[in-house]
Amino acid sequence: KIVVIGSYVVDLMSRAPHLPKPGETVLGGPFKMGPGGKGGNQATAAVRCGSNVTFVTRLGDDVFGREALEHFRRERVNTQYIKHDKDEATGAALISVDQQSENSIVVALGACGKISEGDVLEAEAEIKEADIVLLQLETSIEAVVASVRLSAKHGVPVILNPAPFQKFSKEILKDVSYITPNETEAHELTGVEVIDEHSALIAAKKLYELGVKNVIITLGKQGAFLYTGGEKGKLIPGFTVDAIDTTGAGDAFNGGFAHAVASGKSITDAMIFGNCVAALSVTKIGTAPAMPIKTEIDEFLKH
Ligand code: ADP
Repeated sequence: KIVVIGSYVVDLMSRAPHLPKPGETVLGGPFKMGPGGKGGNQATAAVRCGSNVTFVTRLGDDVFGREALEHFRRERVNTQYIKHDKDEATGAALISVDQQSENSIVVALGACGKISEGDVLEAEAEIKEADIVLLQLETSIEAVVASVRLSAKHGVPVILNPAPFQKFSKEILKDVSYITPNETEAHELTGVEVIDEHSALIAAKKLYELGVKNVIITLGKQGAFLYTGGEKGKLIPGFTVDAIDTTGAGDAFNGGFAHAVASGKSITDAMIFGNCVAALSVTKIGTAPAMPIKTEIDEFLKH
């Protein structure tokens, strides 16, 4: 059983010949819309792997919020702790993509930026029973800190995906069992430029010294690097696939990894599983809709 506490935003995406300059309007298309946000994507990935998932977030009282609720119900995510905020709009990501697949994105967190300590405390019964609590930084730091504290109180392991990077009190890291930055976030957290296994080890040691027992740095198609103390770490190589759209790869990895850890797999096996879920997700367009289902994962791992 997994509790995900974090963001939901609707992805509003359009392709254009080039990204608009300040003051410019560019005619583009087609327009695509779909569920997104790191919390929602990771919840979707984990539930599709077969986990029992509760998602704690806030939605606005608007058409996007209603669509979101329908998405999570369809996916069989427990929506009991999703709040409807009367004063805020549902989060939205305004995504422009050019012909080279370069993008520029404005994320308006809206309601999901307002998840409060009170919202987290209301979900205490679920958190207490969870095998894993999965967090990101795409909401208020207040909600993240409250989630870490409450999980620690009940001895529930926390995975913190520190994305997107925001400043927070490093003091919470002693109560984080697994931290999963990508290269950029690892750089922002430690000041070490991470590009490969070697630099990942230097950054991982710094995070380990802050109190996280299991440091996992995702390295794009190279895979993910694990450090759990001592001299060396190890690279768990990624799977080779035809990548079409790598947005949401990190979310797929985290959802898959959380599912595998919650199912009792070893960290190494859980990382292989996370790499597999992420590799399958990059073969499809979109974020939440691109998450693979259990039968696809089983089939892929057989070969
Ligand atoms: P983010 O999406 O947060 O930038 P990464 O780029 O590090 O994160 O990707 C997360 C994980 O997704 C990687 O550890 C790897 O398992 C998988 N992945 C990413 N890109 C590819 C790719 N092109 N081919 C196969 N797997 C990939």
